[in-house]
Amino acid sequence: MKTTVVALANQKGGVGKTTTAINFSACLAEKRKKVLLIDLDPQANATSGLGLEKGFGQSIFPALLGEKDGASLIKETGIKNLDIIPSELDLAGAEIAIARRDDYLHRLKEAMAPIIEAGTYEYIIMDCPPSLGILFMNALNIADEVIIPLQCEYLALEGLSVMVDIVNQIREAGNPNLHISGILMTMYNVSTNLSQQVLQEVVKHFGDRVFETLIPRNVRLSEAPSYGKTIIDYDRHCVGSAAYRNLAKEFIKRQKQGAEPEAEKLPTLSSVLQAEEPLRSTEQMPDPLV
Ligand code: ATP
Ligand code: MG
Repeated sequence: MKTTVVALANQKGGVGKTTTAINFSACLAEKRKKVLLIDLDPQANATSGLGLEKGFGQSIFPALLGEKDGASLIKETGIKNLDIIPSELDLAGAEIAIARRDDYLHRLKEAMAPIIEAGTYEYIIMDCPPSLGILFMNALNIADEVIIPLQCEYLALEGLSVMVDIVNQIREAGNPNLHISGILMTMYNVSTNLSQQVLQEVVKHFGDRVFETLIPRNVRLSEAPSYGKTIIDYDRHCVGSAAYRNLAKEFIKRQKQGAEPEAEKLPTLSSVLQAEEPLRSTEQMPDPLV
């Protein structure tokens, strides 16, 4: 089967990348999709959030060095259809260890190529660290799609133009398939005007690139990782479970439609700021009856 590689990325910290990596992967697996989650963050929150011990010698690190093949690092999660290449703090040293190699931005490609060619997994989901460093660049070099989680808070769009620029650069520099498949609004709070305003602003600039599915702020989502459980195992009836199930459904539907507009047509924040229209326009729509 064809493997689609998806990076969950945003250099901003604490926006919901890992929560999404765990629960989106689990919901795809629930829909009988074979999923491999790669924890690319030395914080290893996706690893511990799935109940796996963070221990020595179990990250992608040796595969980045070319000492082991990627497939040998795959672990079962105990969840049907969901496997993981875990992480550990040591992965923080990987950037320095590979930095002097000519192909330092393509080490993950080499490590993962046999797994992708084997076609065992329908989706490979990568939980990226909150940085624009070497691991992040390696992830984008093998990704087909990027999902950017954005927290529904003031200044949510800040830094997003940098992400969009990097995606464009990597596409031009040798990964022509790469595109931003979606912006995912996380920690949405129905009862605040701020969430509404942020959402409107993001939709204004990114249109249908914003997932219809909004991930609500839900305490169950923040509790689940401390029990090492996905949200659907922790509380299958909570709104967080429903939201991530909807996301998986919407994502699969979008994949089938396959009609994503060209990523380079996406506006960047800098282009938007240069536009004459104020960023936070509160212009009223013209009355259609007049
Ligand atoms: P980092 O950049 O540090 O890797 P991250 O982008 O991966 O962070 P998470 O770890 O997923 O972000 O989330 C940050 C915090 O917010 C965590 O404590 C998580 O439990 C909590 N959180 C994430 N999503 C939600 C949500 N929808 N509702 C409530 N809490 C959430
Ligand atoms: Mg994280």
